[in-house]
Amino acid sequence: MKTIGYAALSPSTPLAPFTFERRALRANDVAMEILYCGVCHSDLHTARNDWGWTQYPAVPGHEIVGRVTHVGPDVTRFRVGDAVAVGCLVDSCQECDHCHQGEEQFCTNGRTDTYNAPDRITGENTYGGYAKHLVVREEFVLRVPDTLTLAHVAPLLCAGITTYSPLRTWNVGPGSRVGVIGLGGLGHMAVKLAAGLGADVTVMSRTNSKEADALSLGADRLLVSSDSAAMAAAQSHFDLIIDTVPVKHDVNPYMSLLKVDGTLVLVGQVGPLAEPTTVPLILGRRRIAGSLIGGIRETQEMLDFCAKKQILPDCEMIRMDQINEAFERMEHADVRYRFVIDMASLPAPSAQ
Ligand SMILES: [Zn+2]
Ligand SMILES: [Zn+2]
Repeated sequence: MKTIGYAALSPSTPLAPFTFERRALRANDVAMEILYCGVCHSDLHTARNDWGWTQYPAVPGHEIVGRVTHVGPDVTRFRVGDAVAVGCLVDSCQECDHCHQGEEQFCTNGRTDTYNAPDRITGENTYGGYAKHLVVREEFVLRVPDTLTLAHVAPLLCAGITTYSPLRTWNVGPGSRVGVIGLGGLGHMAVKLAAGLGADVTVMSRTNSKEADALSLGADRLLVSSDSAAMAAAQSHFDLIIDTVPVKHDVNPYMSLLKVDGTLVLVGQVGPLAEPTTVPLILGRRRIAGSLIGGIRETQEMLDFCAKKQILPDCEMIRMDQINEAFERMEHADVRYRFVIDMASLPAPSAQ
């Protein structure tokens, strides 16, 4: 199937229109027309080869919402016209312990990312959601509940699950005290989801300039991390701190804010940390952990939870041809809180 998307052809060129083929339907495949795609920091890092493993052309996008247009003969769970979503994963071995446990993101034999990864069967580079159409095996397609507004769902597929999964892993619920460092795409979802689960939520920020925003998103307060008196008063307060800061930073000031057995979980950064000291870890049996998106089962649970609680990301809708400008604004944290591309702005490929 011929389709059109936007691709980076090299680390230094802006994304530009790119016509390509989606694979012919395998028996267990679902084909969809993409309606919306969120814009994640990973998209920008991949387009610019910041992590050193980008294959070009690179078509980013892993916060995908669409409607089913065709299904393979073995597909049982989806029908033409269904509202569906695809996140960061499009395949895994389905046989290892992690896949059996529904944690395909940790597949021992290697998960297949939605873009910039080799297809498990053909080895061809996967192309993501900055495109008009997508073909994905049924097991990696999610159902979008009817009561969610489709135009706002897309960021749940990466920013949503990335923050929901640690909240569930560490059993956050009523009575839990959760801290959120950073109030960007991930942080604003962490606040909404933690509040939705019934937790007491504190946003941590260097200044109080985001206080009104934090409260309107559902946080109970903002803690100014440069205010040493306020930080001292918050010692041993939190069960879980979700750290969404996307660049190298120092976690030491936050560790003593955790209770005994508390955890600071990193979800925003891939790369080195400033050197942590072991003192607060040992004195409070505290932990620094990481977390990577979530499995398919948990992602569906998150979508259903968001439908029940009417939790949706705050989105700024853009046209596909505004993507390069959006990347620049995202680098300067100039978005509240996630760009979403309206794929109706991308003309269908010509028939010839
Ligand atoms: Zn992402
Ligand atoms: Zn596996």
